[in-house]
Amino acid sequence: MGKISVTALGGTREVGKSALLLEAGGTRVLLDYGMKLIPKEHPEFPPIPEKVDAVLLTHAHLDHSGSLPRLVSHGHDVPIYGIDITREYSELLLYDAIKVAKLKGHHIGYGPKEVRRTLNNFRPVEFNVPFRVGDLEVTAINAGHIPGSAMFHMKYDGTSVLYTGDFNTVPSRLMPPASIDDIPPVDILITESTYARKEHPPRAKQEFLLKEIVIETLKSGGTAIVAGFAIGRLLEVAMALRARGFKGKLFLDGMARKSTEITEYFSNRVRDADDLKLAVRTITSVRNWHMRKKITKRPNVVLTTSGMLEGGPVHYYMKERKEDENSTITLTGYQVDGTEGRRLIEEGKMEIEGEETWVMMKVNQLNFSAHVSRSGILKLIRELKPESIMVVHGEESEEFANELEDKMGMAAFSPELGEEIIF
Ligand SMILES: [Zn+2]
Ligand SMILES: [Zn+2]
Repeated sequence: MGKISVTALGGTREVGKSALLLEAGGTRVLLDYGMKLIPKEHPEFPPIPEKVDAVLLTHAHLDHSGSLPRLVSHGHDVPIYGIDITREYSELLLYDAIKVAKLKGHHIGYGPKEVRRTLNNFRPVEFNVPFRVGDLEVTAINAGHIPGSAMFHMKYDGTSVLYTGDFNTVPSRLMPPASIDDIPPVDILITESTYARKEHPPRAKQEFLLKEIVIETLKSGGTAIVAGFAIGRLLEVAMALRARGFKGKLFLDGMARKSTEITEYFSNRVRDADDLKLAVRTITSVRNWHMRKKITKRPNVVLTTSGMLEGGPVHYYMKERKEDENSTITLTGYQVDGTEGRRLIEEGKMEIEGEETWVMMKVNQLNFSAHVSRSGILKLIRELKPESIMVVHGEESEEFANELEDKMGMAAFSPELGEEIIF
């Protein structure tokens, strides 16, 4: 049996800068190549490997894609394999990364030229259609996380590896669940573990609460501001509100507008293209400052970025309504320590457009996570019965791996940063 090795370049016992270097035979592939955004600090990047033949990109989120243009800066103009829509989302996010870095005075090691070259290196692949990368036979499998998100199944000399990337085993409004039944036999499983030690609250309850918040806010004459990620999340929120019978107007602002256009164009990548179309038809894009200003003058619902209140149009809306106790700001996901969203929840104040501000609006936090929960990961493990399990992409990766070993007698581990594992 040939040797396979995996070097943990980043994103193992942390969420951010996901990057693994897999070597099989003479072939070296990067499994994702992300960046880590840290509130108030300079972003972190994985090291640049000597030689790379290709990148397998699971999905467009910056913690998986954000370092790709650094490869071309170092002369690695290598093919990047991913699902078609991943290229379009990546284009949006990578150019935005440059914009944000400029704003914050960060040096990320690339500009528009490197992003253009990176985008030229994309090679679209299709789910369940095997392709060759050197000595590896690779198959992308729907991961259910965001449109186009893929797991990669890799086969070399009789040994198979599955790298899950971010995945979800339960359906959402936007996405079908990961296609676990399509996964061929697996010897080595490399799994994400963001929520490996938690269960999510029932989604139906979250949807119900969201609808209640929005309706109550409008009734009392306030503005209902809902903050979420541009890719996937705000569209999920819009679809949930529609599905729960909310018929009012929904304004959509920030990067989510462009992301929604992309999703609409690739509607074969979502669970139900007709559902998507219905939801999109009822969304009003905020196109200019004139519209933006009008929205907060009346009771309205606005869905906007950024998800952790680190910037974006959400700051404008909050600045306008911050003293209005009838208005609401609803966060739709986990708030990383040190972000303005986390501060708002814990301290009731945050920095809005550079100014420290008390917020009198009602603050709500809901969970619309697109990540698999503990029971989903365990289900995947039970289905696949791998010989060894490498746990990555989680603040508690190590604890989860230990649990798998001690309580369930499985060969599981979470590598240290920089560690090389030989299978
Ligand atoms: Zn993701
Ligand atoms: Zn991720």
